[in-house]
Amino acid sequence: GKKVGVLALQGDVSEHVQAFEVALGGDGEVVPVRMPADLEGCDALAIPGGESTTLARLIAESGLREAIRSFEGGIFATCAGMVLVATEINDSRFEPLGIVDITIERNAFGRQRDSFEADLEVAGLDEPFHAVFIRAPMATAAGPDVEVIARIDEGIVAVRRGKHMVLSFHPELCGDLRLHRMFLEAL
Ligand code: GLN
Repeated sequence: GKKVGVLALQGDVSEHVQAFEVALGGDGEVVPVRMPADLEGCDALAIPGGESTTLARLIAESGLREAIRSFEGGIFATCAGMVLVATEINDSRFEPLGIVDITIERNAFGRQRDSFEADLEVAGLDEPFHAVFIRAPMATAAGPDVEVIARIDEGIVAVRRGKHMVLSFHPELCGDLRLHRMFLEAL
């Protein structure tokens, strides 16, 4: 079975733990990651939604920045996690981790569409995915090694890069675990 770490510094950690426990179906384990040693033996790391400036500070303080940058497993990054793994963001208060070559606009949907839901066509899924966006980021550009798997009118909302999956919405909140399974299958 696979061992999935969930970054447990801030944000919707328990929802991610629960979703991966269900997706693994008893074959594997889910562990909280709070310090570099917690990543040992992990096949994957989930970086949850939350507040990306706070998360960036906590990642730096816990010594996890270099550990995550050199992590060889797959990264499942959602919402604030998408901001953190990017190479470029429209916010000078912190340096993203630079793991996936995407350019991110934080809080891309503004006040009127602060939070919304949409049925997305996602490459690799037969049926649309009901996606929940909460003060979501969006990618405005993606590098040549990045596969865009979903967009909405405004821009890119889901990508894959090797084993990594990066989503601007919250798949851990909707009870639909198809994206978790797709991610686990690619590890
Ligand atoms: N707007 C948040 C940020 O950029 C992300 C929101 C979320 O993770 N739900 O940090």
